[in-house]
Amino acid sequence: MTTGITHHIPENLIIAYASGALPRPFALVVAAHVSMCDECRARLTAQETAGGAILDTAETSAISDDLRARVLQALDDPIVLPERKTRRGPYPGPVMEALKGQPPRWKSLGLGTRQCIIEHGRAGSVRLLSIPAGQAVPDHGHNGLELTLVLQGAFKDETGYFGPGDLEVADSDLEHTPVADEGETCICLAATDASLRFNTLVPRLLQPLFRI
Ligand SMILES: [Zn+2]
Repeated sequence: MTTGITHHIPENLIIAYASGALPRPFALVVAAHVSMCDECRARLTAQETAGGAILDTAETSAISDDLRARVLQALDDPIVLPERKTRRGPYPGPVMEALKGQPPRWKSLGLGTRQCIIEHGRAGSVRLLSIPAGQAVPDHGHNGLELTLVLQGAFKDETGYFGPGDLEVADSDLEHTPVADEGETCICLAATDASLRFNTLVPRLLQPLFRI
């Protein structure tokens, strides 16, 4: 699926993802976009190839005979691969894997807006958001880096129009009010690393409530 995607993954995030340095919440958003976008999949492959070339030229270091023997032994063990989850409805394969194949368990945030927290921890959080057509996204107090990937419908804000597959990269400098486009419920996958960055009292009180 490539049609219509105009907002792609910035190069620094592609490089961080390829080298495995991206925190999990962001990595899930990148993986979901890559599964929807041929262009970014090609860019990722190029970065991974570069990483492979670096490994090829790296100095080798010796491992113990014991480790070598154990690895060779383990090769005889039968391999049970976990079943790969595939796209279901608006949810790409990586999201279905994060949901362990189950449909999202939505919780109301009021005014018809719902969220399903996929992961929430020290590295940040990643959630699905469902916003009724035509409605503004409630202020959810992001302060750090925020990645928002549209899975269904569209939203617009001061910076542009984001349809299915489009990725918005927002940092703490951006003040924006996303509004879901008319016509269809907007479902997004959103990741933030800002869970520890609340400075004012009220969001800090609300934080345990919404776990944002
Ligand atoms: Zn892309």
